[in-house]
Amino acid sequence: MPGNKTNNALISVVIPSYNEEGNIDKIASYVVEQLTKPEYPFEIIFVDDGSTDSTLEKLIQLNRKDARIKFLSLSRNFGHQSALIAGLDFAAGDAVISMDADLQHPPELLPKLISKWEEDYDVVYTRRKEDQELPYLKRKTSKMFYKFINIFSDIKLEPGTSDFRLMDKKVVSVIKELPENNLFIRGLIKWVGFKQYCIEYIPQKRNDGESKYSYRKMISLAISGVTSTSIFPLRIASVMGFIISIAAFGYSLVVLYDYYFTNKNLSGWTTLIIAILFLGGAQLITLGIIGEYLGKLLIQSKGRPKYIIKKTYEETRNQEYPA
Ligand code: UDP
Ligand code: MG
Repeated sequence: MPGNKTNNALISVVIPSYNEEGNIDKIASYVVEQLTKPEYPFEIIFVDDGSTDSTLEKLIQLNRKDARIKFLSLSRNFGHQSALIAGLDFAAGDAVISMDADLQHPPELLPKLISKWEEDYDVVYTRRKEDQELPYLKRKTSKMFYKFINIFSDIKLEPGTSDFRLMDKKVVSVIKELPENNLFIRGLIKWVGFKQYCIEYIPQKRNDGESKYSYRKMISLAISGVTSTSIFPLRIASVMGFIISIAAFGYSLVVLYDYYFTNKNLSGWTTLIIAILFLGGAQLITLGIIGEYLGKLLIQSKGRPKYIIKKTYEETRNQEYPA
């Protein structure tokens, strides 16, 4: 019989939700259904990431019906990663599972994640198989996302790993204690180590509504994925500078030769303009890279919280049922 990892171990499921009014009830009931199988006590923690639809009202109703379904509501939209961290901070479980609200992460996998945890894996992460059903552009941009991170950072992410995973509480406490904001949890999970197991799955179509990851959010996630895990891009700048200097030295020999020994010294407008444009571009890129890291440093030095909580299920309960 399952359920003997430790007696009365608690499972937490964290679900960041941004304008998911059409998915909340469904995902909650599916997760409850799946979690009654492994016979562990559980809690579901929805994190309302500043939704402007009726997500929060739905969550309040769910919590009234079933006290195991809890929620936090953030004061504005802080983004998926911050919402996830808020949920981790709040989760009391011996194992914490994170998943999306839109049913793309199949709840049927939950018992399997838990059973791998019972086999003593500390992180059970998932990897989505390439799925022809997903829109072409989503597949392509997702591929580019992993390529970009793998080229420009020190960690190697397997394509298709998402934030659908189980973490033992000792991994959660390591992640929670990291002081850095602008987190890229997928990268951190690779970085922390521990005993990890990968499960593959076929993603489902989003149940209701549209993807909440705009292209802008995706690009910013990719950049923070790189800058928060490595300083490799800074090194590219020095390497580029080095190569250009060598080339410039070689070419200046050619120019000097022309000047002293031939009559060609007025030609070369094309070379000149190419050199100016190329160097200008290279310098701007380098400045941009340095700026990116400097900006991160500035934001970090302000020491602002990663998220702000507006309301939790506890307050709502007290408000609705005064003692
Ligand atoms: N999400 C969030 N805050 C955001 C964007 C997304 O909490 O600013 C949540 C969203 O509600 C969903 C999960 O993060 O539960 C993944 O988002 P989505 O399904 O839109 O991303 P996709 O699957 O298209 O990559
Ligand atoms: Mg989705």
